[in-house]
Amino acid sequence: MNNRIQLGLLLIFLTILGVLGYNAWLWETTPPERSYTEFLTDLGSSQITSVHLKGGELRGEDKIGRQFRTFTPDLPTLIPKLLSAEVNITAEQPPALFDRLIPMTFLMILLTSIWLIFTKGSFSGGKIWKENRFQVRAEPADMKTFADVAGIDEVQDELKEIVDFLKNHEKYNLLGGRIPKGVLLQGPPGTGKTLLARAIAGEAVVPFYLIGGSDFVEMFAGVGASRVRELFRLAKKNAPCIVFIDEIDAIGSKRSSGNGSHEEREQTLNALLVEMDGFASNETVIVIGATNRPDILDPALLRPGRFDRQLTVSLPNLHGRVKILEVHTRPVTISPALNLTVIAQGIPGFSGADIANLVNEAALTAARLKKQSVEMSDFEDAKDKIMMGLERKNAAINEKERRKIAYHEAGHAIVARLLPDTDELHKITIIPRGMALGLTQQIPIEERYTYSLIYLLNRIKVLLGGRIAEAIVFNHLSTGAANDIAAATDIANRLVCEWGMSSAIGSTVYRQQQQQFLGSLETKGNFSEATAREIDLEVRRIVNDCYAETEKLLRNHNRLIHELAEVLLINETIDAEEMEIVMECYMNSKKNEKNCPDEQYKSDCLETKSNRTEEILA
Ligand code: ADP
Ligand code: ZN
Repeated sequence: MNNRIQLGLLLIFLTILGVLGYNAWLWETTPPERSYTEFLTDLGSSQITSVHLKGGELRGEDKIGRQFRTFTPDLPTLIPKLLSAEVNITAEQPPALFDRLIPMTFLMILLTSIWLIFTKGSFSGGKIWKENRFQVRAEPADMKTFADVAGIDEVQDELKEIVDFLKNHEKYNLLGGRIPKGVLLQGPPGTGKTLLARAIAGEAVVPFYLIGGSDFVEMFAGVGASRVRELFRLAKKNAPCIVFIDEIDAIGSKRSSGNGSHEEREQTLNALLVEMDGFASNETVIVIGATNRPDILDPALLRPGRFDRQLTVSLPNLHGRVKILEVHTRPVTISPALNLTVIAQGIPGFSGADIANLVNEAALTAARLKKQSVEMSDFEDAKDKIMMGLERKNAAINEKERRKIAYHEAGHAIVARLLPDTDELHKITIIPRGMALGLTQQIPIEERYTYSLIYLLNRIKVLLGGRIAEAIVFNHLSTGAANDIAAATDIANRLVCEWGMSSAIGSTVYRQQQQQFLGSLETKGNFSEATAREIDLEVRRIVNDCYAETEKLLRNHNRLIHELAEVLLINETIDAEEMEIVMECYMNSKKNEKNCPDEQYKSDCLETKSNRTEEILA
């Protein structure tokens, strides 16, 4: 239990004790009440021996020695009666208001401090309570290196530079170069973000401090902020070093999206920003943050001088999975007959952590069966076991989704490949990245400053290709293509309005601008309603024409869509070269359509592909 909570409970206990004790004391010292009439009667019959007056309150004793208490409404007329009855009178001042306030004030202070302790605790400076709760994991031993990381070469290459910074920070400082402060690794859980950060520390042989973002966020205001300061004090003392903040979105989420502990998180975030802005150049502390929700991060975190490098760590593709399998089977005795590529092909969508888990399960299974080495069947068993767990979560929908994405991307790619005057294909992937489900990447052959009409129309067709392929194969439309359609419409719109490329509208430039008009945003054009309608019609005509032409093209190459989608489903990511192999296969088989039955073609293609795959992996 937290020390602070203990103190709070103790105070509550003391308060209750105090209140009870006070009441008991009052009970003890207060004589029983007697009515005023009764008192007057007793006084008349000379029963009363003495009274003590305190304001209107009257305490007395009768002849038998019984004490009592009553209240007189009319003191001036009572005094003569008491005197004539020869009662012994004593008196004191009525208690001042101030005296009555003392116990109240005391109680108030007590309650307030209890409340403070439970809600804030900042009044105590947070100092005493902090030490034993706040844990930074420092790791000098069990250092990882880049050899432990596989399948994310692109990210790893980017990070090699950081290792160099850490190793040669003096040199960089001398030259006055600005050493990066923060790197944000974003990607799904288990893809090796923590591992990468550890490996950087291991490669550079510097201390590694790990803390989870949620460790900062406490229910007591100010604690998070002071932990941040503490952490950085430690880091600066041991610079050069790596500070790794896992799940940084716990502190760094957008300020508006706050729930209860919103103010606390803001303070913590501000402390972090202040610390990151405040490094002197000779303090080489590199902060690595990890998140799988980059979309909810506060933009302030991503400004220059903070986490200005953002790297995406995606789920590994086939090639990556093979490499990760290699890393994790290194310490395991595996059967020489084991084909890691085949295993990797059977586990699409597995993260690095899933693969580590798979190898571990397989080794356990083999050990249970008292085998000499881990065999394929052990991997199969382990896979089934893990998949079954995953299935319940999301794999079932994923398979259907994956097919759709594969056909969608195949559509983009085929249109881009078949039409002339388009940018060259670079990469096609069905691995989700950030907000995009899949991606067909093209690179311009050369930097273009002017665009031909053909190029622009083909660009529209490439964008529409994804949705059209889905429509042809699955016979229904999905919302996944909304961005594509919007982009296509935008090109058509600019083609008509800005670039004057439409014969129907002519070469007048119709500028649509958003203007600030009397404080509200208005879309204003330098054209009439009628022209606006004409423009709309023309834009729609262009998009519709492109759609029809693209649909015809893709229907003509229906089989190619299926082939490419199939290859994508297996390989997940293919590059331009692999795309060419698929194209070649397809074209060849099309040429000798008659003497090349489908089956023959398929096995040819698959053979080429697996040869190719092995080639890549070699
Ligand atoms: P994240 O921080 O992205 O959630 P971790 O770095 O904690 O993922 O990964 C958990 C474990 O999964 C690692 O310790 C490692 O054993 C394994 N792993 C994940 N990604 C990889 C990878 N790219 N290469 C090798 N092992 C990996
Ligand atoms: Zn698309």
